[in-house]
Amino acid sequence: MRSIYDLTYDEMTEMVLEHGWKKYRGDQIFRWLYRKKAESFEEMTDLKAEMIETLKSEFSIVLPKLVTRQVSRDGTRKYLFELEDGSLIESVMMVYEYGKSVCVTSQVGCNMGCSFCASGLLKKQRSLTSGEMTGQILAVQKDLDASGDRVSHIVVMGTGEPFDNYDAVMTFCRTVNHDVGLGIGARHITISTCGLVPGIRRFAEEHVQFNLAISLHAPNNELRSKLMPVNKAYPIEDLMDALHYYAKLNNRRLSFEYILLKGVNDSDACARQLAELTRGLDVYVNLIPYNEVDEHGFRTLDYKQAMVFYDKLKKLRVGCTLRQEHGADIDAACGQLRAKYEGRKSS
Ligand code: SAH
Repeated sequence: MRSIYDLTYDEMTEMVLEHGWKKYRGDQIFRWLYRKKAESFEEMTDLKAEMIETLKSEFSIVLPKLVTRQVSRDGTRKYLFELEDGSLIESVMMVYEYGKSVCVTSQVGCNMGCSFCASGLLKKQRSLTSGEMTGQILAVQKDLDASGDRVSHIVVMGTGEPFDNYDAVMTFCRTVNHDVGLGIGARHITISTCGLVPGIRRFAEEHVQFNLAISLHAPNNELRSKLMPVNKAYPIEDLMDALHYYAKLNNRRLSFEYILLKGVNDSDACARQLAELTRGLDVYVNLIPYNEVDEHGFRTLDYKQAMVFYDKLKKLRVGCTLRQEHGADIDAACGQLRAKYEGRKSS
């Protein structure tokens, strides 16, 4: 059965019109779901009884089920959710000065095979529906309601490759962005891709305000192909072409994600090549401490070493920040909590 959370505001309106109901009914249902956070159609007391019956027979209304929650000393909360088919997924809530940001999972497992990432330990089982992504935000928001806090930012940076699930991810972004519902500002929503060029080009043509982040992690093909198999299909030249295309069509700043892997991508040559790639493009580099994953054996740079690389980039006049680490005391790396939980279940 289709989930009611799969419908954008416009689709909700179409749906009620198709049933011969008044247009404002769509608005009402949308408000019930995202403002009042109703979890059953019966709660929607201003709908007629027969409407409720029809909705019940056509749509499910189920949020991801909370399995466990870890809370870090810095306020980071990591959630393990179970979906209707039993799949386990993770979401993370991070606390910043500017608000509360939720990291959303877009697929169960991932096929991109990045050599440093815990998500890829489980191959892609399936893509999430938009309703399952929206459900993660609603479930986290409900958890925050107790303290009067609000999800203000979203990053599609959990397990999965968003551009391998393009339509559902865009529907999700539009749904949570709509001001009749959660009203999370488009400029506060970031989609992160490992570099699927067709997706980037398609996204460029949508002219939306959602932010685009690229997981670069290496500034030359030799190293990038070693770390990220996707680079063999879409090498850096193709990626850069797509990014310049995006920049031509959109007046929006891009960001590069660059995790700091000790002795791997932190050389002087890497800094220079990275600087070269940023020339002529409105792009900001986020240097990210690597969350060590036992299975992979990469090491992160400590703060002092990270500052050395940061200073090199600054000298080369690259706009960059060194991202603070969140949830270091909990299993905050993508896929870590799920992997641990599965391990526990099977041992
Ligand atoms: N597939 C998308 C989104 C999910 S990964 C993408 O590749 O962008 C989100 C970000 O987390 C990516 O930049 C990814 O490279 C990074 N990442 C993966 N494992 C990590 C780890 N152990 N520590 C720090 N960042 C990690």
